[in-house]
Formats: sequence, C-alpha cells, structure tokens
Amino acid sequence: MRQHSALRTCTGLASTAGAQPRPTSLMHVSSGNRNRGDAELAAYLEAAWQVLRSEAAIAPACPHCGADDAHACAPSGDELPQFRCRHCRRRFTRLSATPLARLRHVDRFAQIFPLLARSMSLAEAARQLEVKAETVAHWSTQIRQWLLMLDPSGQWERRVQLGVHYAVVPAGTPRRLEPRPAGCRCMLAGAGGEARPLPQDGELGLEGPLLLRVCPQCDSAR
Ligand SMILES: [Zn+2]
Ligand SMILES: [Zn+2]
Repeated sequence: MRQHSALRTCTGLASTAGAQPRPTSLMHVSSGNRNRGDAELAAYLEAAWQVLRSEAAIAPACPHCGADDAHACAPSGDELPQFRCRHCRRRFTRLSATPLARLRHVDRFAQIFPLLARSMSLAEAARQLEVKAETVAHWSTQIRQWLLMLDPSGQWERRVQLGVHYAVVPAGTPRRLEPRPAGCRCMLAGAGGEARPLPQDGELGLEGPLLLRVCPQCDSAR
C-alpha cells in the first residue's frame, strides 16, 4: 500500500517484519482536548493572516531572490497588492513565499481557524465550512506548514488536530529510527495528545504500541 511506504520513508523505521506503522486517523488520541476549541491558535492565525492579506503597498523582501528592492505594481480589481522585484524582475504577493500561495476558496479560508484544534472529522469540518473534505485536508496541511514557518519551534503547529494523521507502531518489536528526510517534523504522540520530538539516538524502545504524529511534509508526500 502506498501510504505504508511513504510513512516508512517519513519515519525511517527499519522494516522489521510486522513493525511497519499503520496510517490511521485517531480522533481519540487527544481526548483531553476534545472539542475544546483553541481560541489562542485561532487568534494567532488570524493575526498572521491579516498581515498576509494586508493592502499596504510597502514592499516586503523578494521571496524569489531575497533582495529588498521591490516596488508595488497596481493591483487589478480586488486582488492583493502585487510587487515586482527590481533585482530578479519577478512578481510576487505577500502570500507567494508561503504554503498558502495557491489557496482554494481564499474568501472562506479563515473560517477554518477556530476548528483546527478540534478532534473532529474532516467530513464534519467540511460540512460546517461548506467546502469539500479534500479542501479541508488541504488547508490543514498548508496551515501546518505555514505554522512551522512562522514558529519553527513547532509549538503552534502541535496544537492542530484537525486533519492530522497518526501512524501506529506495534508494540514488542525492536524499533530503531533511520535518518529522516530533511524537513521532517514527525513526532511521538503522547497519551494526552501532546506531541514530543523523536529521540535523538533513534531508539524508540520496546514499550508500546507507539503513535507517531505524521508531519505535514510527510503527510503531503503520501
Ligand atoms: Zn527578486
Ligand atoms: Zn515527517
């Protein structure tokens, strides 16, 4: 199955027979946080979203070449301000360098923010937001990537529950992690829903079963 091999790539688990993580969507993992909502996460995202959606014509640094020498171009219609870099001559908006550059239904996007910390199904979120479940899944991945960009410590990204996948590592088999792909932020999921980094020495230990919280990079590679 395709998902299995991708998860194995992501976690770098040695392919001991029977020790392969099984992808799943475990909504009970975070029972402590169930439907608590997370106003802080929503407010954090809303503030960052307002910055990206700003109509201010002050040019940010060019996301293509990094030069701080761009000028504003006249936006057409109600589009976001566009900028053109004098150095590499490419055009960009404030969204260009983010994982949100190609958003579907931009007008409805921010409505997902209050739902992100909830352990609800994609189908339920899709019903509430009146978009397809596939769009919700997409938004969740994009937001998690964006959160890791805004806060590389991963503290905010860890609060997201909606659309997050977990991989089960069965108990009782010696498990050793191989080096993971660059940028992989897969973590161990704790019983209370908190995620913690994978052990530095790569030893997962024998107790288990263990849950891996699949990072957005590995999730979108599936
Ligand atoms: Zn440039
Ligand atoms: Zn990963």
